[in-house]
Amino acid sequence: MASPAVDLHLHSTASDGRLGPAALVRHAAACGVRHLALTDHDTVAGVAAASDAARECGLGFVPGVELSAAWRGRAIHILGLAVDPQAPALGAAVERLASLREERADRIADRLDAAGAPGQAARRAIEAEGALPTRTHFARALVELGAARDLAEAFDRFLRQGRPGYVPTAWPEAEDVTGWIIAAGGVAVIAHPLRYTLSAGARRELGHAFRAAGGMGIEIATGGASAAQVAEATSLAVRTGLDGSVGSDFHDPAFAWNQPGRLAKLPASIRPVWNHPAFPRDFGATA
Ligand code: AMP
Ligand code: MN
Ligand code: MN
Ligand code: MN
Repeated sequence: MASPAVDLHLHSTASDGRLGPAALVRHAAACGVRHLALTDHDTVAGVAAASDAARECGLGFVPGVELSAAWRGRAIHILGLAVDPQAPALGAAVERLASLREERADRIADRLDAAGAPGQAARRAIEAEGALPTRTHFARALVELGAARDLAEAFDRFLRQGRPGYVPTAWPEAEDVTGWIIAAGGVAVIAHPLRYTLSAGARRELGHAFRAAGGMGIEIATGGASAAQVAEATSLAVRTGLDGSVGSDFHDPAFAWNQPGRLAKLPASIRPVWNHPAFPRDFGATA
């Protein structure tokens, strides 16, 4: 565990994080983070409040987003870092992704009901929260409604692929998503590359295709990654010519193993994505 200074993958209540954007920034600061990005799923609704809080705390901040995409029919996540949240290309993307998420949430609710779980009740509770709905919201609601003991069980019984509440979704193609991020002035980064069920060969093909589409980086240090996983992601970055990013994927202060800044250091052989000119010049510099 080293360098808690940079964390470029964090969620707020604008998507499935537990802390509001300003509280998230203060929590990250208390955890030792000095430079961060807010990266909610398919929304930049929290960026303005996070940016204000970061300024108050004296932290380096870039707007970000974690966009849902499809590659070879699989859902993958692409981070847009240092994007312009006002850019029309990004506005159109998040609008489209938001309607996909709202439609999907309706179908998840129906399917859960059909499976004897309280789907519509969960949907109503989620709607009352006002966030852009994710499966995490359903998992939490199912726990609250007594249909599962914890998040892991809710995913395992109802929400993961192959379970009754899983709804395959036609996310936009990774190549298009990458283009939208670039059009919004941002740096596109493959999130948690080892989490997808792909062979090592397919993972490299993903990296090459992403690079060819203008993608710049790949997450190397992610929350809870082992040394072996960091090494594997490092070799993937080297072989595909991608720069490296670091991000905890923090959602919840109750999960001690997944706190902001709890990350391995980027290996010295890897160029940090935050050296890209889209980032402020002093971003990531040690104080
Ligand atoms: P969605 O993008 O709506 O499909 O939801 C994906 C989110 O669900 C991820 O970003 C994680 O936060 C969460 N998630 C996925 N699988 C699990 C799991 N097994 N346990 C807890 N959270 C999960
Ligand atoms: Mn999430
Ligand atoms: Mn993700
Ligand atoms: Mn995430």
